[in-house]
Amino acid sequence: MPRFIGNYIATGSNPKIVKGDNNVYLTAIQHFLPSDISGHQMCGMEEIAGCRKDCLNTAGRGQSPMVVAARTRKTLEFAEHRPLYDYLIDKDLTKYETFCHRHGLRGAVRMAGTDDRPWHKILDMEAYDLQFYNYTKHYRRAYHPMPKNYHLTLSYSEANKNYAESVLKASKDTGTNIAVVFKGAFPKRFKGLEVIDGTKDDLRFLDPSPCCVALKALGKAKRNTNGFVIAA
Ligand code: SF4
Repeated sequence: MPRFIGNYIATGSNPKIVKGDNNVYLTAIQHFLPSDISGHQMCGMEEIAGCRKDCLNTAGRGQSPMVVAARTRKTLEFAEHRPLYDYLIDKDLTKYETFCHRHGLRGAVRMAGTDDRPWHKILDMEAYDLQFYNYTKHYRRAYHPMPKNYHLTLSYSEANKNYAESVLKASKDTGTNIAVVFKGAFPKRFKGLEVIDGTKDDLRFLDPSPCCVALKALGKAKRNTNGFVIAA
C-alpha cells in the first residue's frame, strides 16, 4: 500500500489499522500521549472508565523511547503551540486528501489514536473529502449532531456502574455502536447487541448499527481486572 507520513498523521504505522487498508480505503492515525501524562489532559473520562493505566498507549511500540518522544512532541505542539498545530494539521489533511485521490483511494482518519479530545469541534471535518472516525468514552457526544463524515463508537467499560449504564443508554437512545474489550473468546451477543469481530480491521464507520464491536486486550490491558476489560 502507498504510505503517507505527515507531521501528525501517518498510514502504515498501526498493525490493526493496516488490516483495513485495501483497494478502497487507506487509514491514517494520529497518536498523542493520553490522559495527563504530558501535563495536559487529553482524555477526560479515563478515571471513571478505568482505562488510564491500561491504555492502548501501552500496546505495541507505544512504550519505546522514540515513539514516546514523538507522541510527546505532538501533544505539546497541540496543547502549547496551537496556531502551529492548526496550520500543520490542515496541511497534513489537505495533502492526505490529495494523496488518496491520486491513488484512487478513500482516505479515512482516526485523529484520537490515543486521546479522547472532541475532534469534531477542533477540525472543520466537512472541509475535507475524508472519512473521520474515533472511539470515545465521552458517551454524551452520541446525543450531539456530528459532521456527516464523522463516525463515533462508544467505548464501554464496567469499571464504574454508572458509566457502564450511561454508555448502554446512549447506545440504545441513539443507535451508536459500543466497543468492548474482551478477555478470551468473544460472545455471540452482549447486552442484547449482536457482537462483531472488531479485530479484523479498524474501519468502524462500515460497521452495522446497532452492534457491539469486540476488541482484544492489548498491552497492559491483558492483565486488567478493574472492569475495563470484560470477561465474556
Ligand atoms: S484508553 Fe482512551 S480514554 Fe483511556 S487513557 Fe487511553 S486514550 Fe485515554
